[in-house]
Amino acid sequence: MNKSLRKAVIAGNWKMNKTPAEAKELIEAIKPLVKDADCGVLCCVPYVDLQTALDAAAGSNIEIGAENCHWEESGAFTGEISAKMLTSMGVKYVIIGHSERRTYFGDTDVTVQKRMRAALNAGMTVILCVGEYLEQREQGVTAEVVSSQTKIALQGVDASELDRVIIAYEPVWAIGTGRTATADQAGEVCGLIRSVVEGLYGKEKADAMTIQYGGSMNAKNAAELLAQPDVDGGLIGGASLKPADFAEIVKAAVNG
Ligand code: PEP
Repeated sequence: MNKSLRKAVIAGNWKMNKTPAEAKELIEAIKPLVKDADCGVLCCVPYVDLQTALDAAAGSNIEIGAENCHWEESGAFTGEISAKMLTSMGVKYVIIGHSERRTYFGDTDVTVQKRMRAALNAGMTVILCVGEYLEQREQGVTAEVVSSQTKIALQGVDASELDRVIIAYEPVWAIGTGRTATADQAGEVCGLIRSVVEGLYGKEKADAMTIQYGGSMNAKNAAELLAQPDVDGGLIGGASLKPADFAEIVKAAVNG
């Protein structure tokens, strides 16, 4: 696999952390540390932090994204935010299908597909998260689970939209647990996802797709994970809240 065919992207997922004032501080701290990055740098932040983060990142190489969006443009969906609302404020990126949304908030492969469709319709770039639970890995069905999550989410996605889709392989057992997949495990499943994309859209599109690994990636293990031929970046939770660690991961990204 030739990494020069695609862009490495390191994305932070801040989850439910940081007030707007803290968000400004964190973006300001990250900015100088990643200014010479040889890869895409993205911070996905809580809704209430979006405007502050956009303002703080303006003129820098840091992009700002949201952590979810609803599939309708507007309506009686108390507590939800639409893709149109996000783009109206200049937010171009959104995480869809994070395992915490699937596990704690009832997201299913079907609602993930609907959210994805809405985000793409609004012109956004999506980080689609897929990944197996520990029991599924132990039962030997990782490939089936990840393939079907990927296929269902991509239903109705046109080949012309794929340059706005990033897929993040995030084994659920590795998220926030400090237990990282080995580089071989990460590389193997990212390669499998690329072969699923190839089966649906052909080799050229698959070779061009950015596929990230996520799950306890940190300053120490990033280089080994990112050296895998099919791992084109990372989705980073805990370490994205620590400027120096996040910057180390950005430095480890292999672009081309
Ligand atoms: C995540 O939230 O997507 C994630 C990978 O978290 P962590 O890096 O903390 O495991």
